[in-house]
Amino acid sequence: MKNVIIIGGGAAGLGAAYKVKRAAEEGHDVSFTLVEKDPRLGGKIASQRVADEWDGAEGAEFIIDGGPDCFLTSKPAVHRIAKMAGIEDDTLPTDDSRKKTLILSRGKLFEMPDGVMMFAPTKFVPFATTGLFSWPGKIRMGMDLFVPKKQVPEGTLNDETLESFIVRRMGRECLDRLAEPLVGGVHASDPKEMSLAATFPNLLEMEQKHGSMLKGFIAMRKMVEDMKKKYPPQPGAKPRTFFTSFTGGMQELTDAMSSAAGVENMKTGAAVQAIERVGAGYKVTLTDGTVLDGDAVIVATESWAAEPLMRPFDEAIADSLADIPFSTSATVSLGFKEDEVGIDMDAFGVLCPAGEKRALLAATFSSTKWPGRAPEGKVLLRGFVGGPQNQAIMDKSDAELIEIVKAEMRSILGVKGTALFARVYRWNLGMPQYTMGHLGRVEAIESRCSEIPGLALAGGSYRGVGIPNCIESGERAVSKVLNDWDIELAEDAVEEKRVY
Ligand SMILES: Cc1cc2nc3c(=O)[nH]c(=O)nc-3n(C[C@H](O)[C@H](O)[C@H](O)COP(=O)(O)OP(=O)(O)OC[C@H]3O[C@@H](n4cnc5c(N)ncnc54)[C@H](O)[C@@H]3O)c2cc1C
Repeated sequence: MKNVIIIGGGAAGLGAAYKVKRAAEEGHDVSFTLVEKDPRLGGKIASQRVADEWDGAEGAEFIIDGGPDCFLTSKPAVHRIAKMAGIEDDTLPTDDSRKKTLILSRGKLFEMPDGVMMFAPTKFVPFATTGLFSWPGKIRMGMDLFVPKKQVPEGTLNDETLESFIVRRMGRECLDRLAEPLVGGVHASDPKEMSLAATFPNLLEMEQKHGSMLKGFIAMRKMVEDMKKKYPPQPGAKPRTFFTSFTGGMQELTDAMSSAAGVENMKTGAAVQAIERVGAGYKVTLTDGTVLDGDAVIVATESWAAEPLMRPFDEAIADSLADIPFSTSATVSLGFKEDEVGIDMDAFGVLCPAGEKRALLAATFSSTKWPGRAPEGKVLLRGFVGGPQNQAIMDKSDAELIEIVKAEMRSILGVKGTALFARVYRWNLGMPQYTMGHLGRVEAIESRCSEIPGLALAGGSYRGVGIPNCIESGERAVSKVLNDWDIELAEDAVEEKRVY
Protein backbone atom coordinates (compact mmCIF):
# COMPACT_ATOMS: atom_id res chain seq x y z
CA MET A 1 0.00 0.00 0.00
CA LYS A 2 1.41 3.40 -1.00
CA ASN A 3 0.56 6.22 1.41
CA VAL A 4 0.36 9.85 0.30
CA ILE A 5 0.86 12.45 3.03
CA ILE A 6 -1.14 15.59 2.26
CA ILE A 7 -0.17 18.75 4.14
CA GLY A 8 -3.01 21.31 4.41
CA GLY A 9 -6.75 20.77 4.65
CA GLY A 10 -8.06 23.56 2.43
CA ALA A 11 -9.78 23.13 -0.94
CA ALA A 12 -6.55 21.91 -2.56
CA GLY A 13 -5.60 19.42 0.16
CA LEU A 14 -9.13 18.05 0.36
CA GLY A 15 -9.31 17.90 -3.45
CA ALA A 16 -6.16 15.77 -3.31
CA ALA A 17 -7.47 13.56 -0.47
CA TYR A 18 -10.74 12.89 -2.24
CA LYS A 19 -8.90 11.97 -5.41
CA VAL A 20 -6.66 9.47 -3.59
CA LYS A 21 -9.83 7.97 -2.09
CA ARG A 22 -11.34 7.60 -5.58
CA ALA A 23 -8.10 6.02 -6.79
CA ALA A 24 -8.38 3.46 -3.96
CA GLU A 25 -12.01 2.81 -4.90
CA GLU A 26 -10.85 2.24 -8.47
CA GLY A 27 -8.76 -0.63 -7.10
CA HIS A 28 -5.34 1.00 -6.74
CA ASP A 29 -3.40 0.15 -3.60
CA VAL A 30 -3.13 3.73 -2.30
CA SER A 31 -4.16 5.61 0.84
CA PHE A 32 -3.64 9.08 2.29
CA THR A 33 -2.97 10.83 5.59
CA LEU A 34 -3.93 14.51 5.67
CA VAL A 35 -2.44 16.89 8.24
CA GLU A 36 -4.05 20.27 8.96
CA LYS A 37 -2.56 22.66 11.53
CA ASP A 38 -5.92 24.25 12.45
CA PRO A 39 -8.55 22.38 14.47
CA ARG A 40 -10.99 22.87 11.57
CA LEU A 41 -10.78 21.59 7.99
CA GLY A 42 -11.55 23.86 5.02
CA GLY A 43 -8.72 26.42 5.16
CA LYS A 44 -9.96 29.76 3.80
CA ILE A 45 -13.42 28.24 3.32
CA ALA A 46 -15.11 28.95 6.64
CA SER A 47 -18.85 29.21 7.30
CA GLN A 48 -20.45 29.91 10.65
CA ARG A 49 -24.03 29.88 11.90
CA VAL A 50 -25.34 32.49 14.34
CA ALA A 51 -28.63 31.66 16.05
CA ASP A 52 -31.26 34.39 15.81
CA GLU A 53 -31.72 35.45 19.45
CA TRP A 54 -33.58 38.63 18.48
CA ASP A 55 -37.31 37.69 18.34
CA GLY A 56 -36.48 35.12 15.68
CA ALA A 57 -38.41 31.95 15.00
CA GLU A 58 -37.23 28.74 16.67
CA GLY A 59 -34.13 27.43 14.87
CA ALA A 60 -33.72 30.56 12.72
CA GLU A 61 -30.11 31.51 12.05
CA PHE A 62 -27.71 33.63 10.04
CA ILE A 63 -25.24 31.79 7.80
CA ILE A 64 -21.97 33.68 7.49
CA ASP A 65 -19.11 33.03 5.09
CA GLY A 66 -15.95 34.41 6.65
CA GLY A 67 -13.79 33.70 3.58
CA PRO A 68 -15.03 32.93 0.05
CA ASP A 69 -18.78 33.22 -0.37
CA CYS A 70 -19.09 31.63 -3.83
CA PHE A 71 -17.40 30.01 -6.79
CA LEU A 72 -17.42 30.83 -10.47
CA THR A 73 -20.21 28.74 -12.04
CA SER A 74 -18.43 28.43 -15.39
CA LYS A 75 -15.57 26.41 -13.89
CA PRO A 76 -16.76 22.80 -13.62
CA ALA A 77 -14.65 21.42 -10.73
CA VAL A 78 -16.96 22.39 -7.86
CA HIS A 79 -20.09 21.14 -9.64
CA ARG A 80 -18.32 17.87 -10.42
CA ILE A 81 -17.22 17.38 -6.80
CA ALA A 82 -20.64 18.45 -5.44
CA LYS A 83 -22.28 15.81 -7.63
CA MET A 84 -19.87 13.06 -6.55
CA ALA A 85 -20.14 14.02 -2.87
CA GLY A 86 -23.96 14.12 -2.99
CA ILE A 87 -24.54 17.85 -2.33
CA GLU A 88 -25.48 18.90 -5.86
CA ASP A 89 -29.04 19.73 -4.76
CA ASP A 90 -27.65 22.21 -2.24
CA THR A 91 -26.01 24.47 -4.83
CA LEU A 92 -27.39 27.97 -4.46
CA PRO A 93 -27.65 30.45 -7.34
CA THR A 94 -27.66 34.20 -6.67
CA ASP A 95 -31.02 35.98 -6.54
CA ASP A 96 -30.54 37.83 -9.83
CA SER A 97 -33.94 39.55 -9.55
CA ARG A 98 -32.10 41.83 -7.07
CA LYS A 99 -28.79 41.96 -8.94
CA LYS A 100 -27.21 45.39 -8.88
CA THR A 101 -23.64 46.44 -8.09
CA LEU A 102 -22.93 49.89 -6.70
CA ILE A 103 -19.62 51.71 -7.22
CA LEU A 104 -18.51 54.63 -5.12
CA SER A 105 -17.13 57.45 -7.26
CA ARG A 106 -16.33 61.01 -6.19
CA GLY A 107 -18.17 60.32 -2.92
CA LYS A 108 -21.42 59.26 -4.64
CA LEU A 109 -22.91 55.85 -5.37
CA PHE A 110 -23.46 54.80 -8.99
CA GLU A 111 -25.02 51.65 -10.31
CA MET A 112 -22.70 49.57 -12.46
CA PRO A 113 -24.16 50.12 -15.95
CA ASP A 114 -26.05 47.18 -17.46
CA GLY A 115 -23.95 45.25 -19.97
CA VAL A 116 -20.55 45.75 -18.30
CA MET A 117 -18.59 42.52 -18.70
CA MET A 118 -15.47 42.37 -16.57
CA PHE A 119 -13.84 45.72 -17.38
CA ALA A 120 -15.72 46.76 -20.52
CA PRO A 121 -19.18 48.04 -21.47
CA THR A 122 -21.06 46.00 -24.08
CA LYS A 123 -24.34 47.96 -24.23
CA PHE A 124 -24.33 51.49 -25.62
CA VAL A 125 -27.33 53.19 -23.94
CA PRO A 126 -26.57 52.26 -20.28
CA PHE A 127 -22.92 53.19 -20.89
CA ALA A 128 -23.77 56.51 -22.55
CA THR A 129 -26.23 57.52 -19.80
CA THR A 130 -24.27 56.45 -16.69
CA GLY A 131 -22.79 59.13 -14.46
CA LEU A 132 -20.07 56.73 -13.32
CA PHE A 133 -17.73 57.86 -16.12
CA SER A 134 -17.09 61.39 -17.43
CA TRP A 135 -17.61 62.10 -21.14
CA PRO A 136 -13.86 62.32 -21.82
CA GLY A 137 -13.53 59.01 -19.92
CA LYS A 138 -16.27 57.41 -22.05
CA ILE A 139 -14.70 58.67 -25.29
CA ARG A 140 -11.33 57.30 -24.19
CA MET A 141 -12.92 53.92 -23.47
CA GLY A 142 -14.47 53.97 -26.95
CA MET A 143 -11.01 54.66 -28.42
CA ASP A 144 -10.24 51.04 -27.57
CA LEU A 145 -11.75 50.27 -30.98
CA PHE A 146 -8.86 52.11 -32.65
CA VAL A 147 -5.91 51.34 -30.36
CA PRO A 148 -3.70 48.92 -32.32
CA LYS A 149 -3.13 45.53 -30.73
CA LYS A 150 0.18 44.89 -29.03
CA GLN A 151 2.82 43.22 -31.19
CA VAL A 152 4.19 40.23 -29.31
CA PRO A 153 7.53 38.97 -30.65
CA GLU A 154 7.43 35.25 -31.33
CA GLY A 155 8.68 33.07 -28.52
CA THR A 156 8.12 35.74 -25.82
CA LEU A 157 5.49 35.59 -23.11
CA ASN A 158 2.72 38.13 -23.71
CA ASP A 159 2.41 39.77 -20.31
CA GLU A 160 1.99 43.17 -18.68
CA THR A 161 0.37 44.51 -15.55
CA LEU A 162 -3.39 44.91 -15.38
CA GLU A 163 -2.87 48.64 -14.95
CA SER A 164 -0.71 48.95 -18.06
CA PHE A 165 -3.19 46.92 -20.14
CA ILE A 166 -6.35 48.76 -19.08
CA VAL A 167 -4.77 52.23 -19.31
CA ARG A 168 -3.32 51.40 -22.73
CA ARG A 169 -6.58 50.09 -24.14
CA MET A 170 -9.39 51.82 -22.22
CA GLY A 171 -7.85 54.78 -20.39
CA ARG A 172 -7.09 55.61 -16.76
CA GLU A 173 -10.67 56.38 -15.79
CA CYS A 174 -11.75 52.85 -16.71
CA LEU A 175 -8.95 51.55 -14.48
CA ASP A 176 -9.72 53.85 -11.54
CA ARG A 177 -13.51 53.64 -11.57
CA LEU A 178 -14.13 50.08 -12.79
CA ALA A 179 -11.17 47.69 -13.11
CA GLU A 180 -9.29 48.60 -9.92
CA PRO A 181 -12.30 48.38 -7.58
CA LEU A 182 -13.28 45.06 -9.15
CA VAL A 183 -9.89 43.47 -8.60
CA GLY A 184 -9.32 45.30 -5.31
CA GLY A 185 -12.66 44.15 -3.94
CA VAL A 186 -12.68 40.68 -5.41
CA HIS A 187 -9.01 39.65 -5.67
CA ALA A 188 -7.46 41.95 -3.03
CA SER A 189 -4.72 42.71 -5.55
CA ASP A 190 -2.96 45.81 -6.82
CA PRO A 191 -3.37 46.36 -10.59
CA LYS A 192 0.05 48.07 -10.70
CA GLU A 193 1.69 44.76 -9.80
CA MET A 194 -0.67 42.09 -11.16
CA SER A 195 0.55 39.92 -14.03
CA LEU A 196 -2.23 39.72 -16.59
CA ALA A 197 -0.89 36.44 -18.02
CA ALA A 198 -1.26 34.86 -14.55
CA THR A 199 -4.64 36.38 -13.61
CA PHE A 200 -6.70 37.26 -16.70
CA PRO A 201 -4.94 35.64 -19.68
CA ASN A 202 -8.26 35.77 -21.56
CA LEU A 203 -7.87 39.56 -21.88
CA LEU A 204 -4.51 39.17 -23.61
CA GLU A 205 -5.97 36.52 -25.92
CA MET A 206 -8.98 38.74 -26.61
CA GLU A 207 -6.75 41.62 -27.69
CA GLN A 208 -4.80 39.37 -30.03
CA LYS A 209 -7.97 37.80 -31.48
CA HIS A 210 -10.31 40.81 -31.77
CA GLY A 211 -7.85 43.70 -31.69
CA SER A 212 -10.13 45.38 -29.13
CA MET A 213 -11.62 44.68 -25.70
CA LEU A 214 -14.96 46.19 -26.69
CA LYS A 215 -15.24 43.99 -29.79
CA GLY A 216 -14.10 40.96 -27.79
CA PHE A 217 -16.60 41.45 -24.97
CA ILE A 218 -19.47 42.25 -27.36
CA ALA A 219 -18.69 38.97 -29.20
CA MET A 220 -18.61 37.18 -25.82
CA ARG A 221 -21.97 38.67 -24.77
CA LYS A 222 -23.53 37.54 -28.07
CA MET A 223 -22.13 34.06 -27.57
CA VAL A 224 -23.57 33.88 -24.02
CA GLU A 225 -26.97 35.09 -25.27
CA ASP A 226 -26.95 32.55 -28.12
CA MET A 227 -26.08 29.75 -25.69
CA LYS A 228 -28.93 30.81 -23.39
CA LYS A 229 -31.35 30.68 -26.35
CA LYS A 230 -30.00 27.35 -27.54
CA TYR A 231 -30.09 25.77 -24.07
CA PRO A 232 -32.97 27.47 -22.21
CA PRO A 233 -33.28 26.51 -18.51
CA GLN A 234 -35.30 23.34 -17.99
CA PRO A 235 -38.65 24.00 -16.32
CA GLY A 236 -38.16 23.80 -12.54
CA ALA A 237 -34.36 23.74 -12.83
CA LYS A 238 -32.25 26.17 -10.81
CA PRO A 239 -31.13 29.22 -12.78
CA ARG A 240 -27.47 29.20 -13.84
CA THR A 241 -26.05 32.40 -12.41
CA PHE A 242 -22.52 33.80 -12.77
CA PHE A 243 -21.63 32.88 -9.17
CA THR A 244 -22.91 29.91 -7.14
CA SER A 245 -22.76 29.00 -3.45
CA PHE A 246 -24.30 26.32 -1.18
CA THR A 247 -27.41 26.61 0.96
CA GLY A 248 -25.35 25.88 4.09
CA GLY A 249 -22.52 28.25 3.16
CA MET A 250 -19.33 27.44 1.25
CA GLN A 251 -18.03 25.18 4.00
CA GLU A 252 -20.72 22.69 3.04
CA LEU A 253 -18.41 21.88 0.12
CA THR A 254 -15.28 21.19 2.16
CA ASP A 255 -17.30 19.35 4.83
CA ALA A 256 -18.72 17.08 2.12
CA MET A 257 -15.27 16.59 0.57
CA SER A 258 -13.71 15.60 3.90
CA SER A 259 -16.56 13.17 4.69
CA ALA A 260 -16.36 11.63 1.21
CA ALA A 261 -12.57 11.27 1.42
CA GLY A 262 -12.67 9.93 4.99
CA VAL A 263 -12.05 12.10 8.08
CA GLU A 264 -10.56 9.09 9.86
CA ASN A 265 -7.43 9.70 7.75
CA MET A 266 -7.22 13.39 8.62
CA LYS A 267 -5.32 14.77 11.58
CA THR A 268 -6.13 18.32 12.67
CA GLY A 269 -4.60 20.64 15.25
CA ALA A 270 -0.94 19.80 14.54
CA ALA A 271 1.33 21.42 11.96
CA VAL A 272 3.96 19.75 9.84
CA GLN A 273 7.33 21.15 10.85
CA ALA A 274 9.74 19.08 8.74
CA ILE A 275 9.81 16.82 5.70
CA GLU A 276 12.75 14.52 5.05
CA ARG A 277 13.48 12.12 2.22
CA VAL A 278 14.25 8.66 3.52
CA GLY A 279 15.23 6.22 0.77
CA ALA A 280 12.43 6.27 -1.79
CA GLY A 281 9.95 7.62 0.76
CA TYR A 282 9.36 10.54 3.10
CA LYS A 283 9.39 11.15 6.83
CA VAL A 284 7.10 13.94 8.02
CA THR A 285 7.40 15.35 11.55
CA LEU A 286 4.54 17.20 13.23
CA THR A 287 4.64 19.83 15.97
CA ASP A 288 3.06 17.37 18.44
CA GLY A 289 5.96 14.97 17.93
CA THR A 290 4.12 12.54 15.65
CA VAL A 291 6.26 11.14 12.84
CA LEU A 292 4.53 9.93 9.69
CA ASP A 293 6.07 7.71 7.03
CA GLY A 294 4.82 8.15 3.50
CA ASP A 295 5.65 7.19 -0.05
CA ALA A 296 4.71 10.63 -1.39
CA VAL A 297 4.08 14.13 -0.06
CA ILE A 298 1.69 16.74 -1.40
CA VAL A 299 2.30 20.16 0.11
CA ALA A 300 -1.07 21.94 -0.18
CA THR A 301 -0.35 24.87 2.13
CA GLU A 302 0.07 28.52 1.22
CA SER A 303 3.41 28.96 -0.63
CA TRP A 304 4.88 30.97 2.30
CA ALA A 305 4.11 28.02 4.60
CA ALA A 306 5.56 25.55 2.07
CA GLU A 307 8.81 27.48 1.76
CA PRO A 308 10.49 26.48 5.08
CA LEU A 309 9.34 22.87 4.56
CA MET A 310 10.89 22.78 1.09
CA ARG A 311 14.17 24.55 1.88
CA PRO A 312 16.01 21.43 3.14
CA PHE A 313 15.04 19.67 -0.12
CA ASP A 314 15.69 22.22 -2.72
CA GLU A 315 16.91 25.81 -2.31
CA ALA A 316 15.70 26.77 -5.79
CA ILE A 317 12.10 25.70 -5.10
CA ALA A 318 12.20 27.45 -1.72
CA ASP A 319 13.57 30.66 -3.30
CA SER A 320 10.78 30.71 -5.91
CA LEU A 321 8.20 30.08 -3.16
CA ALA A 322 9.63 32.96 -1.13
CA ASP A 323 9.15 35.28 -4.12
CA ILE A 324 5.33 34.90 -4.14
CA PRO A 325 3.95 37.86 -2.15
CA PHE A 326 0.71 37.82 -0.15
CA SER A 327 -1.73 40.36 1.22
CA THR A 328 -3.66 40.28 4.45
CA SER A 329 -7.35 41.10 4.62
CA ALA A 330 -10.41 40.64 6.81
CA THR A 331 -14.16 40.36 6.43
CA VAL A 332 -16.56 41.76 9.00
CA SER A 333 -20.12 40.40 8.95
CA LEU A 334 -22.90 42.36 10.62
CA GLY A 335 -26.54 41.37 11.25
CA PHE A 336 -29.36 43.95 11.39
CA LYS A 337 -33.11 44.04 11.72
CA GLU A 338 -34.51 44.72 8.24
CA ASP A 339 -36.80 47.50 9.44
CA GLU A 340 -33.92 49.26 11.20
CA VAL A 341 -31.09 49.02 8.65
CA GLY A 342 -32.50 51.98 6.73
CA ILE A 343 -31.10 51.22 3.24
CA ASP A 344 -32.47 49.81 0.02
CA MET A 345 -31.21 46.23 0.21
CA ASP A 346 -31.92 45.57 -3.49
CA ALA A 347 -28.27 45.23 -4.51
CA PHE A 348 -25.48 42.66 -4.26
CA GLY A 349 -23.04 45.16 -2.81
CA VAL A 350 -20.76 48.12 -3.24
CA LEU A 351 -17.18 48.51 -4.50
CA CYS A 352 -14.95 51.32 -3.21
CA PRO A 353 -12.11 52.32 -5.59
CA ALA A 354 -8.73 53.00 -3.96
CA GLY A 355 -8.92 56.58 -5.25
CA GLU A 356 -11.88 57.21 -2.91
CA LYS A 357 -9.48 56.68 0.01
CA ARG A 358 -11.97 54.71 2.09
CA ALA A 359 -11.13 52.06 4.66
CA LEU A 360 -13.78 49.78 3.14
CA LEU A 361 -12.68 47.93 -0.03
CA ALA A 362 -16.11 46.48 -0.71
CA ALA A 363 -19.30 45.38 1.00
CA THR A 364 -21.65 42.53 0.13
CA PHE A 365 -25.35 42.54 0.88
CA SER A 366 -25.02 38.85 1.72
CA SER A 367 -28.69 38.17 2.52
CA THR A 368 -29.79 39.75 -0.78
CA LYS A 369 -27.20 37.99 -2.93
CA TRP A 370 -27.77 34.61 -1.28
CA PRO A 371 -31.33 33.75 -0.24
CA GLY A 372 -31.46 32.13 3.19
CA ARG A 373 -28.38 33.81 4.69
CA ALA A 374 -30.50 35.76 7.23
CA PRO A 375 -33.71 34.82 9.07
CA GLU A 376 -37.04 36.40 8.15
CA GLY A 377 -37.03 40.13 8.99
CA LYS A 378 -33.22 40.33 9.35
CA VAL A 379 -30.40 41.20 6.95
CA LEU A 380 -26.72 40.27 6.74
CA LEU A 381 -24.02 42.65 5.45
CA ARG A 382 -20.32 41.88 5.00
CA GLY A 383 -17.51 44.41 4.79
CA PHE A 384 -14.08 43.69 3.29
CA VAL A 385 -10.95 45.54 4.47
CA GLY A 386 -7.19 45.31 3.95
CA GLY A 387 -5.64 44.22 0.66
CA PRO A 388 -2.24 45.31 -0.69
CA GLN A 389 -3.11 49.00 -0.74
CA ASN A 390 -4.21 49.18 2.91
CA GLN A 391 -2.20 46.72 4.98
CA ALA A 392 -1.90 49.20 7.86
CA ILE A 393 -5.56 48.72 8.80
CA MET A 394 -4.80 45.09 9.67
CA ASP A 395 -2.91 46.27 12.77
CA LYS A 396 -6.25 47.29 14.29
CA SER A 397 -7.96 45.09 16.87
CA ASP A 398 -11.15 43.19 16.02
CA ALA A 399 -13.21 45.72 18.01
CA GLU A 400 -11.64 48.57 16.03
CA LEU A 401 -12.24 46.82 12.68
CA ILE A 402 -15.91 46.37 13.60
CA GLU A 403 -16.25 50.08 14.43
CA ILE A 404 -14.45 51.07 11.21
CA VAL A 405 -16.71 48.88 9.05
CA LYS A 406 -19.85 50.11 10.80
CA ALA A 407 -18.78 53.76 10.33
CA GLU A 408 -17.95 53.15 6.66
CA MET A 409 -21.30 51.46 6.03
CA ARG A 410 -23.06 54.37 7.74
CA SER A 411 -21.24 57.00 5.75
CA ILE A 412 -21.11 55.26 2.33
CA LEU A 413 -24.43 53.37 2.30
CA GLY A 414 -26.46 55.19 4.96
CA VAL A 415 -26.78 52.11 7.17
CA LYS A 416 -28.70 52.91 10.37
CA GLY A 417 -29.73 50.88 13.39
CA THR A 418 -27.67 48.90 15.84
CA ALA A 419 -25.89 45.81 14.62
CA LEU A 420 -27.30 42.68 16.30
CA PHE A 421 -23.87 41.02 16.17
CA ALA A 422 -20.53 41.31 14.42
CA ARG A 423 -18.04 38.63 13.40
CA VAL A 424 -14.48 39.30 12.20
CA TYR A 425 -12.53 36.82 10.06
CA ARG A 426 -8.87 37.66 9.55
CA TRP A 427 -6.91 36.23 6.64
CA ASN A 428 -3.29 36.74 7.57
CA LEU A 429 -1.20 36.49 4.35
CA GLY A 430 -4.38 35.01 2.92
CA MET A 431 -4.33 36.18 -0.67
CA PRO A 432 -1.40 35.34 -2.99
CA GLN A 433 -0.44 38.15 -5.32
CA TYR A 434 0.26 36.98 -8.87
CA THR A 435 2.76 39.72 -9.69
CA MET A 436 4.84 40.05 -12.87
CA GLY A 437 7.03 36.97 -13.31
CA HIS A 438 4.58 34.75 -11.40
CA LEU A 439 4.16 32.20 -14.19
CA GLY A 440 7.95 31.87 -14.53
CA ARG A 441 8.25 31.20 -10.80
CA VAL A 442 5.48 28.58 -10.93
CA GLU A 443 7.05 26.89 -13.96
CA ALA A 444 10.41 26.74 -12.17
CA ILE A 445 8.74 25.15 -9.10
CA GLU A 446 6.81 22.63 -11.19
CA SER A 447 9.75 21.71 -13.34
CA ARG A 448 11.96 21.05 -10.29
CA CYS A 449 9.16 19.05 -8.59
CA SER A 450 8.77 16.93 -11.72
CA GLU A 451 12.35 15.71 -11.11
CA ILE A 452 11.59 14.64 -7.51
CA PRO A 453 9.53 11.43 -7.37
CA GLY A 454 6.60 11.49 -4.97
CA LEU A 455 6.62 15.24 -4.40
CA ALA A 456 4.03 17.79 -5.55
CA LEU A 457 2.80 21.21 -4.49
CA ALA A 458 -0.80 22.38 -4.75
CA GLY A 459 -3.04 25.29 -3.82
CA GLY A 460 -4.15 28.78 -4.62
CA SER A 461 -0.60 30.17 -4.60
CA TYR A 462 0.19 28.86 -8.07
CA ARG A 463 -2.28 28.57 -10.95
CA GLY A 464 -5.49 30.26 -9.87
CA VAL A 465 -6.89 31.42 -6.53
CA GLY A 466 -10.49 30.41 -7.29
CA ILE A 467 -11.86 27.42 -5.40
CA PRO A 468 -12.33 25.31 -8.58
CA ASN A 469 -8.67 26.01 -9.52
CA CYS A 470 -7.51 25.01 -6.04
CA ILE A 471 -9.43 21.72 -6.12
CA GLU A 472 -8.00 20.93 -9.53
CA SER A 473 -4.48 21.74 -8.40
CA GLY A 474 -4.87 19.19 -5.58
CA GLU A 475 -6.14 16.64 -8.09
CA ARG A 476 -3.26 17.34 -10.49
CA ALA A 477 -0.81 16.83 -7.62
CA VAL A 478 -2.29 13.36 -7.02
CA SER A 479 -2.03 12.51 -10.71
CA LYS A 480 1.63 13.60 -10.60
CA VAL A 481 2.60 11.37 -7.66
CA LEU A 482 0.56 8.41 -8.91
CA ASN A 483 2.15 8.77 -12.34
CA ASP A 484 5.54 8.64 -10.61
CA TRP A 485 4.46 5.09 -9.64
CA ASP A 486 3.07 4.41 -13.13
CA ILE A 487 -0.50 4.49 -11.86
CA GLU A 488 -2.94 6.07 -14.28
CA LEU A 489 -6.49 6.77 -13.21
CA ALA A 490 -9.53 6.20 -15.39
CA GLU A 491 -10.92 9.61 -14.42
CA ASP A 492 -7.78 11.39 -15.64
CA ALA A 493 -8.50 10.19 -19.16
CA VAL A 494 -11.94 11.84 -18.92
CA GLU A 495 -10.57 15.00 -17.31
CA GLU A 496 -8.04 15.53 -20.08
CA LYS A 497 -10.94 15.99 -22.50
CA ARG A 498 -12.53 18.64 -20.27
CA VAL A 499 -11.88 22.28 -21.02
CA TYR A 500 -11.02 24.00 -17.75
C1 LIG B 1 -11.39 36.76 2.16
C2 LIG B 1 -11.28 35.85 0.98
C3 LIG B 1 -12.34 35.76 0.08
C4 LIG B 1 -12.26 34.90 -1.01
N1 LIG B 1 -13.32 34.82 -1.85
C5 LIG B 1 -13.33 33.88 -2.83
C6 LIG B 1 -14.52 33.60 -3.55
O1 LIG B 1 -15.58 34.18 -3.29
N2 LIG B 1 -14.48 32.62 -4.49
C7 LIG B 1 -13.34 31.91 -4.75
O2 LIG B 1 -13.34 31.03 -5.63
N3 LIG B 1 -12.19 32.14 -4.06
C8 LIG B 1 -12.17 33.09 -3.10
N4 LIG B 1 -11.05 33.29 -2.34
C9 LIG B 1 -9.85 32.48 -2.63
C10 LIG B 1 -9.99 31.05 -2.11
O3 LIG B 1 -10.75 31.05 -0.94
C11 LIG B 1 -8.65 30.44 -1.82
O4 LIG B 1 -7.76 30.65 -2.91
C12 LIG B 1 -8.74 28.94 -1.55
O5 LIG B 1 -9.74 28.66 -0.61
C13 LIG B 1 -7.38 28.45 -1.10
O6 LIG B 1 -7.42 27.06 -0.92
P1 LIG B 1 -6.06 26.26 -0.62
O7 LIG B 1 -6.42 24.88 -0.30
O8 LIG B 1 -5.08 26.53 -1.69
O9 LIG B 1 -5.44 27.00 0.65
P2 LIG B 1 -5.96 27.19 2.12
O10 LIG B 1 -7.44 27.21 2.17
O11 LIG B 1 -5.20 28.36 2.63
O12 LIG B 1 -5.48 25.86 2.85
C14 LIG B 1 -4.13 25.67 3.22
C15 LIG B 1 -4.15 24.99 4.57
O13 LIG B 1 -2.84 24.61 4.92
C16 LIG B 1 -2.76 24.68 6.34
N5 LIG B 1 -1.33 24.69 6.72
C17 LIG B 1 -0.43 25.68 6.52
N6 LIG B 1 0.77 25.31 6.99
C18 LIG B 1 0.62 24.06 7.49
C19 LIG B 1 1.52 23.15 8.10
N7 LIG B 1 2.81 23.43 8.27
N8 LIG B 1 1.04 21.96 8.52
C20 LIG B 1 -0.28 21.63 8.34
N9 LIG B 1 -1.16 22.47 7.76
C21 LIG B 1 -0.72 23.66 7.33
C22 LIG B 1 -3.49 25.96 6.66
O14 LIG B 1 -3.90 26.00 8.02
C23 LIG B 1 -4.66 25.88 5.69
O15 LIG B 1 -5.81 25.32 6.27
C24 LIG B 1 -11.09 34.14 -1.23
C25 LIG B 1 -10.02 34.22 -0.33
C26 LIG B 1 -10.11 35.06 0.77
C27 LIG B 1 -8.96 35.12 1.74
